[in-house]
Amino acid sequence: MNRQALDDLKQQIPLMGYLQAHDWHPARPLSRGRWMGLCPLHGDHKPSFLVDPNKDLFYCYGCGRGGDVIRFAEIYHQVKFSQALALLRQWRGAEPLLHETARFYRIQLHRHSEPVAYLYQRGVRSLALIEHMRIGYAPGGCLRGWLTELGHSLPALRQAGLVTGVGYDAYVRRIVFPLEGNLYGRSLSAAAPPHRFLPGAKGGLYSWAQAQAYPEVILVEGLFDYAALWEAGFHNVTCSLGTHLNARQFRQLCDGPRTVYLAFDADPNGSGQQAAQGLSRSLRERGILARLVSLPDGHDPNSFFVQGGDARQFQSLLEAAQP
Ligand SMILES: [Zn+2]
Repeated sequence: MNRQALDDLKQQIPLMGYLQAHDWHPARPLSRGRWMGLCPLHGDHKPSFLVDPNKDLFYCYGCGRGGDVIRFAEIYHQVKFSQALALLRQWRGAEPLLHETARFYRIQLHRHSEPVAYLYQRGVRSLALIEHMRIGYAPGGCLRGWLTELGHSLPALRQAGLVTGVGYDAYVRRIVFPLEGNLYGRSLSAAAPPHRFLPGAKGGLYSWAQAQAYPEVILVEGLFDYAALWEAGFHNVTCSLGTHLNARQFRQLCDGPRTVYLAFDADPNGSGQQAAQGLSRSLRERGILARLVSLPDGHDPNSFFVQGGDARQFQSLLEAAQP
């Protein structure tokens, strides 16, 4: 990549936008349009990360690191320069594509009765919740045509994993939830694998920017658990999309003093509870208080509410949660 191509890439990915897409929040303004915030590169407790959006540069007074968006991507994703470039190029290409896809799927949801009935049965019943989570529906067989009409190339759709090698829509009869840089699809058909992601990372904790502000956070493993808790009025909830947290999600939970309530599935084989115990130990080692929420046997937070549990009862489970 020559100098000009590097400059173009940096111009197309403003540092501030990239930081915010990775959950960074400006905490206080400084002179000349600069901002301070918590450093996303080390365990920061008072804002020491300075961003200059005009120069597209950052500097951290805590860990002493600084540079442009490429340098940030290198440190943040812990990759070499050439890999950071590849990640940024991919991010630049995939971002508008995922945005269009999510928008298209949201329109489809309101045109089909099957996904709406399914959502209802899983406790997702209010329009406000559907809007909040930006839930959509992938009927299959129509995304490719729509996106190519908008000017996206077939190879780009294939690379993003939205279209299969032979040219069919990858998501068919799936409820779709937009994530940071990915899309989760829940199958309505028993003949297909229930959970599906696009290739690439599942991203950070779900809706972390919202949950982060609370001193007590409830962590669940599935998006339907998240939905049920949100609907019941628990807005301090976040989701790890599985019981195994990636490094980024773990770092997020540890980014400030808080108590984490682990409300994983009480499945019969005990795997959810085992994962919760392991995570609780790791969190305690980092000085984060963790409590294990004990759900009735065979329940997850979603089924707890769908089968008649209410907010007051769940609150009692939180209060009874043991370290
Ligand atoms: Zn730092």
